[in-house]
Amino acid sequence: MPRSSAARASSASVAKVPQMPAKVPRHFAVVGAGLAGIACARTLLQAGHRVTVFEQAERVGGRTASHESPFGSFDAGAQYFTIRDERFALALDTVPGLYRPWSANAIRVLDATGHVASPSQPPGEAHWVATPGMDALATAWAEPLQQGGHLHTQAQVVAIERDPIHPQQWQLRIQGPAGAQQVLAGFDAVLLAQPADLARTLLTQSQIAPALAAEIAGVITAPCWSMMLAFPQAVHPGTLGPQWNAARSTHHRIAWLARESSKPQRGLVERWTVQASPAWSHEHLHDDPSRVQAKLLKAFAEVTGIHAQPQYVEMRRWAYAQTTQPLGKTHLIDSELNIGACGDWCLGHRLEDAFISGLELALAADFSANFEHNIMQAMLDAAKDLPDEQ
Ligand SMILES: Cc1cc2nc3c(=O)[nH]c(=O)nc-3n(C[C@H](O)[C@H](O)[C@H](O)COP(=O)(O)OP(=O)(O)OC[C@H]3O[C@@H](n4cnc5c(N)ncnc54)[C@H](O)[C@@H]3O)c2cc1C
Repeated sequence: MPRSSAARASSASVAKVPQMPAKVPRHFAVVGAGLAGIACARTLLQAGHRVTVFEQAERVGGRTASHESPFGSFDAGAQYFTIRDERFALALDTVPGLYRPWSANAIRVLDATGHVASPSQPPGEAHWVATPGMDALATAWAEPLQQGGHLHTQAQVVAIERDPIHPQQWQLRIQGPAGAQQVLAGFDAVLLAQPADLARTLLTQSQIAPALAAEIAGVITAPCWSMMLAFPQAVHPGTLGPQWNAARSTHHRIAWLARESSKPQRGLVERWTVQASPAWSHEHLHDDPSRVQAKLLKAFAEVTGIHAQPQYVEMRRWAYAQTTQPLGKTHLIDSELNIGACGDWCLGHRLEDAFISGLELALAADFSANFEHNIMQAMLDAAKDLPDEQ
């Protein structure tokens, strides 16, 4: 009986794939150098691939940004992190000096007038902060990318196109700080590590991967206005205002407050970071920052009892701060098109989610490359071994 080609393929792949660890190095473009993009790029680099990361900002880290002021630093985005996944714990082991526990011992729920509605929460999981600022992890983990010339900052990807010379590959249209555009070609795969809305917009405007764009459209993200305040006039830091260092608030304007000076290695000057609630941020997203500042300062005084005028105020608007409806899986990948996407929004709203999503996308992209090659190679080799059909 002649053996069918399907039978050849199936027997070949079962017999040969495990013995064929051959790797085909590919050139990956990663768009975005937040924790997801960095985890993804580093993993692919370690697997032997060529990687080029494009980051539109001057610095890496995305929403784990730190803000420097004359009175000390602020964590403008992520405030602290938790460690739930063993792989994130292992990555942290590589940077032992760069994170410390934060004994934010009094995270309390406040009612709208600033009263403590719940005296204390039961002890939960440990809260950690990167040191000297929350951007320290991304900076350290991006170091090999920077050193190896794999990272381009101030490089915004504005379009993904088919490479006209090698149509199996992709080329990217990049916009620099002065608006100048250049085209970089020769990418086997493009992996998006942006906030969900930006990834969807880039795919849609590039008119590629509509199925991925449609999946991303189900993700919902809330904005956040952040306000950073310094009170250098406070003679004894920690004594101005409330006794607690961090609080979740039910005030209609404010969702979160943290005394920056209570975090390890942050300096003693009394400083607060205030985050507006998702609903209020959404309502006032396009308001003038000075109006937002005035309203949040009033709310801050109501919640904390601190009526002194801060000597330093900085506002930051995060259009895509926190996932409220995640994708529900670790990443997205189209192995035919060689387009993928990762980010915190795949799994949740925490920086650890971003790290795990980036890692999983890299493993999937690496695996599919090798897997496809191995299957093909195994089929070809097996065909040589088999007698001709009669
Ligand atoms: C105010 C606030 C408070 C938070 N608090 C916490 C907290 O307490 N604990 C916690 O665990 N998490 C917190 N988070 C969430 C946490 O910061 C995120 O989950 C995490 O940092 C997301 O990482 P990411 O890599 O997925 O995305 P991002 O950090 O957003 O990185 C995406 C990167 O892509 C870049 N980019 C976008 N478009 C392009 C383009 N076209 N070309 C090139 N580059 C591009 C961006 O500049 C950015 O650097 C907070 C976030 C905010 C904003």
